[in-house]
Parts: sequence; structure tokens; C-alpha cells
Amino acid sequence: MDKQVLVVGAGPVGLTMAAELARYGVSVRIVDKAAHRTDKSKALVLWSRTLELLDRAGCGDTFVAAGHKVDSANIIVGERTIGHVSFTGVQSPHPYALMLPQSETERLLEAHLAALGVNVERAVEVIGFTDTGSAVTTTLRHPDGRQEAQQTAWLIGCDGAHSIVRHTLGLSFLGDTLQSDWILADIHLAGIRLPASEIAAYWHEDGVLAVFPIAPGRYRVIADTGRSEGPHPADPTLDQVQAVVDRRGPAGLVVSDPIWLSAFRINERKVADYRSGRAFVAGDAAHVHSPAGGQGMNTGMQDAVNLAWKLALVCRGECAAERLLDSYSQERSAIGAQVLAAAGRLTAVGVMKNHTAQVVRNLVAGFLFGLSPVRRAMANTLAEVSLGYAHSPLNGPSAHGFGGPAAGERAPPRAGQVPVGAGRDPRFALFASAGPAVANLLQDHKDLLDPTIRPPFGNGGVWLVRPDGYTACVARDVGAIADYLGSIRGGVQQA
Ligand SMILES: Cc1cc2nc3c(=O)[nH]c(=O)nc-3n(C[C@H](O)[C@H](O)[C@H](O)COP(=O)(O)OP(=O)(O)OC[C@H]3O[C@@H](n4cnc5c(N)ncnc54)[C@H](O)[C@@H]3O)c2cc1C
Repeated sequence: MDKQVLVVGAGPVGLTMAAELARYGVSVRIVDKAAHRTDKSKALVLWSRTLELLDRAGCGDTFVAAGHKVDSANIIVGERTIGHVSFTGVQSPHPYALMLPQSETERLLEAHLAALGVNVERAVEVIGFTDTGSAVTTTLRHPDGRQEAQQTAWLIGCDGAHSIVRHTLGLSFLGDTLQSDWILADIHLAGIRLPASEIAAYWHEDGVLAVFPIAPGRYRVIADTGRSEGPHPADPTLDQVQAVVDRRGPAGLVVSDPIWLSAFRINERKVADYRSGRAFVAGDAAHVHSPAGGQGMNTGMQDAVNLAWKLALVCRGECAAERLLDSYSQERSAIGAQVLAAAGRLTAVGVMKNHTAQVVRNLVAGFLFGLSPVRRAMANTLAEVSLGYAHSPLNGPSAHGFGGPAAGERAPPRAGQVPVGAGRDPRFALFASAGPAVANLLQDHKDLLDPTIRPPFGNGGVWLVRPDGYTACVARDVGAIADYLGSIRGGVQQA
């Protein structure tokens, strides 16, 4: 076996997956059936949590420098702003939404991957595979028609909504297609009164019109248009986009200079299991949902981060496979279900057609958005900093009374501190007061622990944080941490 892992698909999720594995020293091959990277802007937003995870990989700054920062979102009915959600209070080094076209996100991820010594092999299609129990043999088709068999220990399908990996595994993609079509236009927009740092969603009796700044002067407009006949809705003309903007938006907006005019229909589907034997699915191959909230690509990239450190520990022979790898599906399937439900609710609220229901919605929303805890919770949910793994089977003990994050919760990155999981080794980090017991623990588990001890989150407790920045356990003393690390090791002896 010349490679340990084959990643199928070089979209944002496959690129993140391959880069995280390569960074942690796993030999990885990544192929994509498309001859070129996408030139479409598709997913526009990188949220705070994704940027924190890119910081771990050492490339967050590159993305921030290339993107456009947005600090708030408005819900507007007629002339009235009934909701204003600010991201500036999000407790993160990145308290904003970063607007960056997906084509750019992929370009930067591919450059990051290349810097780690891995190049995407394009125009190479996966046409099937078999899992023998001890390895996976995948059939690749090259542009000249030649077929190649690649044997790897693991296979990861990051091959999008029509995933061949998911189909071959026979995983059901359960869910529905929504009864509304949407238009999308990346355009120049003149006459807008809102600052270029704010998103606007106009709730109109006909439906929703959302306007996202991409860069000064450049905007994305999306609107629901009702269900059309045929397998795919027709792309709009610029005149049709102007007509929707005239009807639903504020007076005086003029659209021009389109970069991309498209239409889409929303599917809400997900698989129950993200793992089957030696194969995994991640990103759109595992879950698709409404773009409301802009969570799809971010969720997929976070799937990749979740799996990569676990698989790296297994490939490096530092931990046993089953418990760690099973937890990928358990943790990410729960998040996928949550994101799918939240995006569905946001969409349903926006496209409501019944007049009485709209009046009630506007009143309730106006009331709720008047409450600062609601606005804060919404900002944290969108930024994905409040998501965690409260019910993960990988969680260790979670002692109370010390403050700080509980087991399963995100350990918030601290300014000026090297992020947990940075560097070339997948290491857990200790947040504890230094002392002989901590020093012994480091010595006993030096292959799993980062040698840097960070100050504790609260008084007296010891926190163990996973390489993806989520809390594994909170304990009164290091004994419980040693037991936990022993259990994660799963019988594998330290080298
Ligand atoms: C019009 C549109 C607008 C969108 N807007 C948003 C948004 O605003 N916010 C948001 O979060 N998301 C949005 N999305 C969704 C977002 O684009 C996806 O969530 C994201 O691309 C998923 O990334 P992925 O890597 O999982 O899959 P993809 O980006 O689909 O990448 C899969 C890759 O796998 C390759 N592949 C497929 N089959 C094979 C095979 N057999 N062999 C080899 N390679 C294969 C494909 O060529 C492709 O490059 C939008 C999508 C569309 C289409």
C-alpha cells in the first residue's frame, strides 16, 4: 500500500480533509473527476469556527486577508428593521462572517495542500471500490480511459451530493426536496443604503430576498420563486432579478454586471451513518440542506477536521481504530441533523406565504429579536461557536464547579496562544496548573500530549482538550486524565 488514505473529491471538504491528514503525517492521495477547480462562487461565508480551525492549520490569516468581513445581519419588513444580529460579540478571534467566494476558498485550500506536498490529481474519476475488511481497493479511471486499482487502508468520500462512495456503500440519503425554487445572482448593486459590512434579508409578502455583500459594490442576491415544472429550475435573466429586487427590496436598487446567474432547488437530506467499515463520507456526500444560514460548506469542512485527527492517530499506530473512528459518525451525524433542522426552520420562516401567518411571524420575530440573549444565541449558532459534542461517546468525565468548558464543548481559543491541534502532530492539550503530577502525566503520555501546558480555564480543575479544540474531559486531578488517555489508546502500546 503506497498510500494510507484515498480522498475522493477536491471540493472544499476533500481539500480540507487531505490537508489535515497530510499535516499530521498521513500519506494521502486526492483525486477529482473534474478537469478544473470550480470557478463558481457557490458558498460565500466562512464562519468564525471554521476560521479558528483554519488557524490551527496555520492558514487562517491567508483566508482573512483574501475575504471581506461582515459584522451583522438584518431582517427587514417594509421600511422597518425588525431584527439586527451582530457578530461582533462572538467570543472568537474572528468575530465576523468572512465573505469569500467558494472558488477562492478552494484555490487557497489547494495552495495550502500543495505546500504540504500533496497535489490534487484532476480528471481522475472513482468508478467503484471494494472493502475487503483489511483494505479498500478503488478503481480509478484516467482521462485516456485507462483504469487503475489503488489500494489504501481507508477511503473518504468527499464527492458531493451525488457521491459514488455513498451509493456504493448503499447508505440511504433520507429527506425531501423542498417545494420552492430559488434564484441566485452575483451582481453589481447600486443604490443600497446598508453598509457593505451588513447582510440584509427582506421578508416580503411574496417571499424572501436576501442580499449579501461579497466585496464593496459586489453582492449576492437570492430569492425564492415558487416551484417550477421540470427537473431543474431555469436560470434567471438580469431583468428578472431586477424585477424581484424592485418588488421585494427597498426602492432605488439597480442590479448590473452579473458574474453568475443561477437557480436551485433545495434538498434536505442526510445519511444516518457517516462510516461503513473502512469507508467514510463527509460534506455534501453526507448531508445537504438549505443554504439559509450559509452552513453547508462550513459544516462539511468541520466534518473533515473531526475525522482527520482521529484517522491520523489510527494511521500513525498511536490509537486503536474502532472507538475513535466510530465517534466521527456519532458526533458529526448529530451536528448534521441539528444544522439541517435549523436551516430548514430558517427557510420555512422566510418563505411563509399565508398572510396571517406572516403577520404573526413578523410580530414574534420582532419580539424575539428585541431580546439580547436571543440575538446573542443566534450569532453564536450562525458562527458555529456554540456547536459541540455534548453527547459524544468520546467524552470523558466532566467535573463540575470549576467553570470553563464542559466535556464536549469547544475550548475557546485564546489570543496569543498557539491553537490546540496546530503543528504536525495530532496532540491533546492540557489546561492545568503546572506541578509534578502534570509533569509525570506528560512524560507517561508524551505521544498523545502537547508538551505545552496551558493555564486552566478555571480555578483548580484540569482540562484535556482534543486536537480539534473540543474538551475531552474536565477533572479534579490528573488521574482521571491518565485513565482517559489510556482508554483512547485502546490497548495500543506507546512506541
Ligand atoms: C448554487 C449553489 C449555491 C450555494 N450556496 C451556498 C452558500 O451560500 N453557503 C453554503 O454553505 N453552501 C452553499 N452551497 C453548497 C456548497 O457549495 C456545498 O456545501 C459545498 O460545495 C460542499 O463541498 P463538498 O466538498 O462536500 O462537495 P463539492 O463541492 O460538491 O465537491 C465534490 C467534488 O467531488 C468531485 N467528484 C464527484 N464524484 C467524483 C468521483 N466519482 N470521482 C472523483 N471525484 C468526484 C466533484 O468533481 C467535486 O469537485 C451552494 C451550492 C450551490 C450549487
